Amino acid sequence: MKIFAIGRNYIDHAKELNNPVPAEPMFFMKPDTALVKHNKPFFYPDFTEDLHYEVEIVLKLSKVGKSVDEKFAHRYYNEIGIGIDFTARDIQSKCKEKGNPWEIAKAFDGSAPVSEFIPREKFEDVHQLNFHLDINGVTVQSGNTRDVIFSFERIISYISKYITVKMGDLIFTGTPAGVGPVKIGDHLQAYIEDVLMLDFYVR
Ligand code: MG
Repeated sequence: MKIFAIGRNYIDHAKELNNPVPAEPMFFMKPDTALVKHNKPFFYPDFTEDLHYEVEIVLKLSKVGKSVDEKFAHRYYNEIGIGIDFTARDIQSKCKEKGNPWEIAKAFDGSAPVSEFIPREKFEDVHQLNFHLDINGVTVQSGNTRDVIFSFERIISYISKYITVKMGDLIFTGTPAGVGPVKIGDHLQAYIEDVLMLDFYVR
């Protein structure tokens, strides 16, 4: 399976990192070794001193697709979850300066904790989902999927132009404003609407 992640899909987050609002979706990938499941702890890596959380709605794909038309892209995902796109911000800044790829800042082991997935028909409208992240009981990020720059369907269509999507692939759909650092001992809890979906500690 593959993990895709969309950068800068919420205007308020693009602005907080002084990035231009994109005209086309921008994505990168994480390997399957980035996954952390079942609320297992995340181990703070020793190569960064500025590890950031980014809470994101995650789509699970349900079909093989190549160059999927945006009109039909809603048929290609059937489950929704929530995850953290952990980012070594200090390393990412150096990569950006040098024009290098982001893998060492974004794709390292454990960089993608994800919740269980829920069938999308359990939600009234996946294009108007509230989600938020609490750290140590305080809400640090909250968003609504109505505020994305590129819809889930546009993202699937765009990615599949370049890379065939397959059943079980995941797409992290971008983070709203409010990203920031975590430290060892922090307790992260991510919610879709008011349902606690993801609940783990940084060790
Ligand atoms: Mg992200």
